[in-house]
Amino acid sequence: MDIVKGNMGWIEVVVGPMFSGKSEELIRRLRRAEIARQRVQIFKPSIDSRYAANEIVSHNGLGIPSDNVTKASEIIEKMQPRTEVVGIDEAQFLGDEVVDVCTKLANLGKRVIVAGLDTDFRGRPFEPMPRLLAIAEEITKLLAICVRCGNPAVHTQRLVESEELIVVGAGSAYEARCRRCFEPNPALAAREAGPLLLRNRAANAGGK
Ligand SMILES: [Zn+2]
Repeated sequence: MDIVKGNMGWIEVVVGPMFSGKSEELIRRLRRAEIARQRVQIFKPSIDSRYAANEIVSHNGLGIPSDNVTKASEIIEKMQPRTEVVGIDEAQFLGDEVVDVCTKLANLGKRVIVAGLDTDFRGRPFEPMPRLLAIAEEITKLLAICVRCGNPAVHTQRLVESEELIVVGAGSAYEARCRRCFEPNPALAAREAGPLLLRNRAANAGGK
């Protein structure tokens, strides 16, 4: 998005599975905007409480202060008129409303950068990300590395037996897998991963 005239807004979407560096990429773009002295506001759903309450944290520990919201409309309520760049992390937890919120902000002339999971634990499109991809000016799809075979990984493998759409947690509950190693049925994946998970928990309890 190099050639933009006037104060036109737009929407950038960063998608991919867990462990693909989405939050890291979001933070990188927001930091660069801050370095250019642009006014930045950052939001994330309060459902994602991993690591820190009031900042976006990627798995590698980079953090940037953020505002927690319970629903997308709060982003509009908390928006300061002079803000030029808006970052939204974990947008898949904010529901369909986030699509209208992003559209509204871009129409107001703001650069909107949204990150989120594009597929769920069964490999299905994770609403509302597909709709955001459709209306975005720019799309970045990141891949992780399959922990099984080292190929590019497009899927988030759930390793615990649950059919809930949202089971928030990092580390041992999920891993990145390629399309060949991905097991869409979490019950089968959990059975297979059982001994490994127990080993991981024991290691974590031991403070390692
Ligand atoms: Zn694989």
